[in-house]
Amino acid sequence: MPGFELFGDQERHEVNDVLNNGVLMRFGFDGMRNGHWKAKELETALQERFKVKHAQVLSSGTAAVTVALAVSGVGAGDEVIMPCFTFVASFEGVIALGAIPVLVDIDDTLTLDIEAVKKAITPKTKAIMPVHMCGSMANLNALQIICKEHQLLLVEDACQAIGGTYRGKPLGSIGDAGTFSFDFVKTFTCGEGGAVITDNAEFAKAADHYSDHGHDHVGNDRGAEAHPFLGYNYRISELNAAVGLAQIKRFDEFIGLQKKHYTIIRNELSKIPEVVFRTVPEGGEESYAFINFFLPSLETTRQVAAAFKAEGIDACFHYYDNNWHYVRKWQHLLEAKSLFPLSDELKSGLAKLNLQDFIQSDHYIGRNLSCLIKLSWTEAEVTQRVKNMAKCILAAL
Ligand SMILES: *Cc1c(COP(=O)(O)O)cnc(C)c1O
Repeated sequence: MPGFELFGDQERHEVNDVLNNGVLMRFGFDGMRNGHWKAKELETALQERFKVKHAQVLSSGTAAVTVALAVSGVGAGDEVIMPCFTFVASFEGVIALGAIPVLVDIDDTLTLDIEAVKKAITPKTKAIMPVHMCGSMANLNALQIICKEHQLLLVEDACQAIGGTYRGKPLGSIGDAGTFSFDFVKTFTCGEGGAVITDNAEFAKAADHYSDHGHDHVGNDRGAEAHPFLGYNYRISELNAAVGLAQIKRFDEFIGLQKKHYTIIRNELSKIPEVVFRTVPEGGEESYAFINFFLPSLETTRQVAAAFKAEGIDACFHYYDNNWHYVRKWQHLLEAKSLFPLSDELKSGLAKLNLQDFIQSDHYIGRNLSCLIKLSWTEAEVTQRVKNMAKCILAAL
């Protein structure tokens, strides 16, 4: 997955272009910038590649989740249904707006379980946020039907599955808004960065203003611009955007490499009957950023994860025992440990999480290994790697 593996001359060229020109900010300074608009160019490239009308590039994927929900009108006391398996950033965005993350079970897609989503809907539900974890997607068709029926917004956290598609459409472009991350370990990187993509012109305009302190960006005198509503600073710098601009030009090359390496590993592991791959919803194509499979039991999975480490097979994650991606280890969330007071509504929403069991998700996450697909491997390295993987798995079965 990590675009940083292939950082090179094109990235240096784009960054030097910004440094030589001297305008490091993405807005304003029209006279000084001599036509240098890296963030804007990256937005145009994203619109073209992901077939959407609007893209707003931001300072991070966490910012993107926050901004996507803010422009959807999600705020104090609103409930956002999301999976209990995701990176912490997904609920951080919800909490930043004073809204309540409602965590529900996942299934063998490693994303939202549709029945669990239906059961979690209340009069306070405002949005459903599927997280397309580890390169593959939620059942978006089912979620679209639910959202229509209950008049809910659908916001896709596509930070880990950029480049995947569902029924021919890019992930992130299917809901009311979608989010990407361009942090250092994502498929393509800005160093730090993210984006909201949408076809909704009102959302796009709101994202543009909200992420820059509410600036309406009318005219070319920042001091004279109006502030139609309260905002915040989620801007990306031109330096970071420049890196992304070079990387997105290589995006299809990256996805092609991921697919090639993924396929070699999948073909080899398919020979072991006890290895069961995650379910990809019908009509979906993974981004191939990770390969995910289930083993027969929690014990076997722990044993294999340890053997992988001992054998130097890096970047394979057993999220059941990881502190950042699964509710089992989110004590800070479950105990509502905040530096500053939280609203009573949010506190009681979080308190409810402690009464919930996630037995179904434990069943899947406990037996799942998620292995990053690197771009920089040679074919010989991938072949050797999967041989070692198979050896560890067979020894544990
Ligand atoms: C990486 C990630 C984010 C946040 O992105 P940052 O750019 O690191 O803030 C959000 N959601 C998911 C699922 C992620 O993996």
